[in-house]
Amino acid sequence: KLIVFEGVEGCGKTSQMQFCGQWLESLGISVIATREPGGTELGLHLRRLLLEKADNQPIAEVTELLLYAADRSQHIEQELKPNLAAGKYILCDRYTDSTIAYQGYGRGLDMNLINQLNLIATGGLTSDLTIWLDVDVEVGLARKKGGEASLDRIEQETIAFHRRVQQGYGELAASYPSRIVRVDGNLSQETVQKMIQEILRVHLNELTL
Ligand code: C5P
Ligand code: MG
Repeated sequence: KLIVFEGVEGCGKTSQMQFCGQWLESLGISVIATREPGGTELGLHLRRLLLEKADNQPIAEVTELLLYAADRSQHIEQELKPNLAAGKYILCDRYTDSTIAYQGYGRGLDMNLINQLNLIATGGLTSDLTIWLDVDVEVGLARKKGGEASLDRIEQETIAFHRRVQQGYGELAASYPSRIVRVDGNLSQETVQKMIQEILRVHLNELTL
């Protein structure tokens, strides 16, 4: 099973994913945790290229889109496919919806191009369940400011950019109600984790708890 965590900056997906991994392991389910960009060695190089500050030579928008697609394609071949074939549960921090939300809604790149590239990169592999941690943009950005990632290139984007990304997730969730489940990311970590555990119980029928 491929379970994806999505949301804007500071939504808490990395922490919630860790809690979920520990919870599933405690139930005797072996879990792989991974992320995009950066789930492979090649992907880590791409992640650095994508996130490092490059004020003097900004990455062109379509170049950025292609780098995310390259990261995804390698990640799927090297990590996702073999582990899914082995029957593992994979928890993945970001996947195709990030590309639609950030490069599509955020940057305004052509959705047809994005959908085509997502299809090429994934070969049609979709998540079994995507948990969207819906946090207010201001709350998320404020959380991130204290953290180590405050120099991320993306955080120099305007609030309006992050709002478009947020709106993108909302529209995706409305379009794919059976795949994408929204969780209110403004709630406490404990509450959010409980809600995610409930969702996993309901959605993954293998988890007969
Ligand atoms: O949340 P995480 O640290 O994994 O995301 C890394 C950065 O890459 C974030 O700042 C996110 O906004 C950005 N990103 C992006 N487009 C994507 C995926 C991630 O701009 N398709
Ligand atoms: Mg994170």
